[in-house]
Amino acid sequence: VGKSGGIVIPDDWPGYPLQLFSYPEHYSPEDLECVYIPHGIIMDRIERLACTIMDDLGDHDIVLLCVLKGGYQFCSDLVEFIKALNRTSEKSLPMRVAFIRLHSYLNDQSTEDLQIVGAEDLSTLRGKNILIVEGIVDTGKTMKALMKHIEVFQPKMVKVTGLLVKRIPSGMETLPDYVGFEIPNRFVVGYALDYNEYFRDLSHICVISDTGKKKYKI
Ligand code: 5GP
Repeated sequence: VGKSGGIVIPDDWPGYPLQLFSYPEHYSPEDLECVYIPHGIIMDRIERLACTIMDDLGDHDIVLLCVLKGGYQFCSDLVEFIKALNRTSEKSLPMRVAFIRLHSYLNDQSTEDLQIVGAEDLSTLRGKNILIVEGIVDTGKTMKALMKHIEVFQPKMVKVTGLLVKRIPSGMETLPDYVGFEIPNRFVVGYALDYNEYFRDLSHICVISDTGKKKYKI
């Protein structure tokens, strides 16, 4: 367990060879260096995050605010696990889901300005308990900017869950409340995380290779 509370993937973790897993034909093995976190482990970890979130927030109404596009798969699977717990445990967590779409990346570089490119009327968040659901937190800039943006609407409580957080020297002042995995500073794709819109349709989290980066550069 790391400082973030997530599973620590160490700096020297080599991952698994791609050919030991199934992956879509339209990607070639040269595009990816390795399978970093297999889909099954992602699901097992989210199941546990759902339990922790239920224990902490059970019986409060919450709005899951899904950060698109990278967070959609995590949000969807998290909702499924919370639904299963709602059916089977004594606690129940009434949920709503809202979406916000942000842009900050070109190729594998973070661009300075955060753009909100599509959002529902966020004034509906007023007085609510909000759980922001992010696929990956890198420098934390996006998370911070988003929290500031949301505070304008005076929610009752704001918590954040990030499936992945990156271990980078300059980052991590503010960590999400619920973290899936803490990973080294490498560019990962799959499980809805993209490189210029490619690789979202890969179920495992993988490390993109230099060949892959060149091939899908814009
Ligand atoms: P931050 O503002 O925390 O630096 O960046 C967060 C955003 O950058 C994420 O929501 C994601 O869109 C993008 N990002 C950062 N690191 C990665 C990465 O390793 N892979 C992918 N696909 N996106 C990343």
